Amino acid sequence: METTAATPPRSLATEAVHAGREDLAELGLHAPPLDLSTTYPSYDSRAEAARLDAFAATGARLEGPPVYARLDNPTTARFEAALARLEGTQSAVAFASGMAALTACLLARVAQGLRHVVAVRPLYGCSDHLLTAGLLGTEVTWVDPDGIADAIRPDTGLVMVESPANPTLVEIDLRAVAAACGDVPLLADNTFATPVLQRPAELGARIVLHSATKYLGGHGDVLGGVVGCDEEFARQLRQVRFATGGVLHPLAGYLLLRGLATLPVRMRAASASAAELAGRLAAHPRVARVHYPKLGGAMVAFEVYGEPHEVIAGVRLITPAVSLGSVDTLIQHPASISHRIVDADDRRSSGVGDRLLRMSVGLEDVEDLWRDLDRALGAPPRTGARRVLSGGTVGTSPGGGEDLARAAAPGRAGR
Ligand SMILES: *Cc1c(COP(=O)(O)O)cnc(C)c1O
Repeated sequence: METTAATPPRSLATEAVHAGREDLAELGLHAPPLDLSTTYPSYDSRAEAARLDAFAATGARLEGPPVYARLDNPTTARFEAALARLEGTQSAVAFASGMAALTACLLARVAQGLRHVVAVRPLYGCSDHLLTAGLLGTEVTWVDPDGIADAIRPDTGLVMVESPANPTLVEIDLRAVAAACGDVPLLADNTFATPVLQRPAELGARIVLHSATKYLGGHGDVLGGVVGCDEEFARQLRQVRFATGGVLHPLAGYLLLRGLATLPVRMRAASASAAELAGRLAAHPRVARVHYPKLGGAMVAFEVYGEPHEVIAGVRLITPAVSLGSVDTLIQHPASISHRIVDADDRRSSGVGDRLLRMSVGLEDVEDLWRDLDRALGAPPRTGARRVLSGGTVGTSPGGGEDLARAAAPGRAGR
């Protein structure tokens, strides 16, 4: 759905609650309707044929009633309209998962003969794997942000970055990177920041990708992905989605639209707790290093002395689980779980050390969270010798995030 240009700008908090719902009062409704139809009746197959031809030719959303759920769904379209408004993009196209969304972006470029991708590590583990394995016929060149311009070739279809990155929370200057891309579209994965903290399209990214499974849904009960972009690229994505079938289920579209309404409130509250916990972790004797973005946010990564597995085994209130962005706090060990699929050397050289833990801070009381963390950090090993404090190197992973001193002075995340 395209955004309407005529309405005056409204704040993000207002858009989060109202975008994608403008026609409800006129329809005599308050909650958005959930349309689970897979197909739709039409007594005029000549007109239907013409509409299908138009979609095949352009990829523009169908005018009039939907035809088939793999083509379009009105509930999902509301979520797409709302996300586009929040990200400040012309359009948005939703998919079954974040990985389905990335797949569609890559296939849309491969279909144009542009099979080369330039990417900056670290990325989410499966994104790294998809590019490294070349499953979709792409070829990747991994570079530092400074190396982007030199790595671009005539057949480069995309430059891909994450900022803050999963799991190290390294931040990239998206404006500088977008400039280095020239005519090649920059795809920025904005899953960690969300449009509440960062709108990559305003910084020059042509494609903004989300694992909607995380903060957009926000409750750990819906899998989805979405791409905010200009209408030209959205049309290509809709054609790929129709042909390959990675559609978002309408119930997921419903839940994601509902999640967006509280996104600004959830992000602000969780970010304030995350900043506080980052500061306390930085002062903890069993923590070697804390990574917390300058941008703020609800993710904290930290490196421990000794066994990270002991911390995972020791939490009681915090849930030891992969994924992030839920109302409850989750912690996981990237080298074992979220980034397991990445080759160990590539993982380590991109800053994902074996002692790194990644925590997604939720909406619990911050003192309760701290008690749980402090206890888990201090818990004696369950097996073998007590060697938690035997030490190791401090701060061996490369830059990004904030170091101890900065993390100890939270203050930006309350906005
Ligand atoms: C989880 C995640 C993905 C993949 O999303 P799914 O919804 O699990 O397919 C992509 N990028 C980032 C940054 C993620 O955290």
